[in-house]
Amino acid sequence: MVRLHEVNKHFGSFAALTDINLDIPQGQVAIVIGPSGSGKSTLCRTINRLETIDPGGTIEVDGKALPEEGKELARLRADVGMVFQSFNLFSHKSILENVTLGPIKVRGVKKKQAEIEAMELLDRVGVGHQAKKMPAQLSGGQQQRVAIARALAMKPKVLLFDEPTSALDPEMVQEVLDVMVDLAKGGMTMVVVTHEMGFARKAGDRLIFMADGKILEDTTPEDFFTNPKTDRAKDFLGKIL
Ligand code: ATP
Ligand code: MG
Repeated sequence: MVRLHEVNKHFGSFAALTDINLDIPQGQVAIVIGPSGSGKSTLCRTINRLETIDPGGTIEVDGKALPEEGKELARLRADVGMVFQSFNLFSHKSILENVTLGPIKVRGVKKKQAEIEAMELLDRVGVGHQAKKMPAQLSGGQQQRVAIARALAMKPKVLLFDEPTSALDPEMVQEVLDVMVDLAKGGMTMVVVTHEMGFARKAGDRLIFMADGKILEDTTPEDFFTNPKTDRAKDFLGKIL
């Protein structure tokens, strides 16, 4: 579903990603962990083409190479949903409008139909009763669930999460993770950057450990946590567990 081949990314002379090869099949939940600055966000951003990659590498989503720009990019990018640490809702639009905007503008869905679909999604993430409110009137956990509903409204083939619970108060983390577990069980293809190791074990099919822009370990969560192979991974686990 998502295939990265020989992906490199430089910022000037700094190598943020080096020789990334990754093939994420449909329905897989791939957890990405690693120290700060290891390239986790950059990896997500290249998959979504928020960042370009160095010439020579390729990124395919659902068998289609992502172009660098243009109308085609907007359409293909709709296949890749992204949920950020900071919820990034449109602050001057209602919860409902936040979810309907993309489908109306990019997918050409009629307003009424977009609203029906949006309400289904908002109900699914448990905030349907908040649809008329503005983002600032919701808790962080509720806003992040709206952000997930907004991403789902585009009917993406893969969802990327970049530390979706890191900005939340502790008591709101679980409600967002619960939604993500449901999505994982429902067969969504997901790439999840997270420090939530309970979630990684419970919902992850695969665990990718990055350091210095490289993938150092690529295995199952169980194997990684019980049997990390590299010193970098052992050191990292020693700090977070
Ligand atoms: P964190 O856990 O802190 O979120 P990360 O693993 O997500 O870290 P990235 O944000 O992907 O790390 O950054 C990887 C490296 O690339 C860092 O050293 C960062 O400073 C660098 N970097 C990221 N974006 C840019 C940019 N736009 N310009 C220059 N350097 C950048
Ligand atoms: Mg990051």
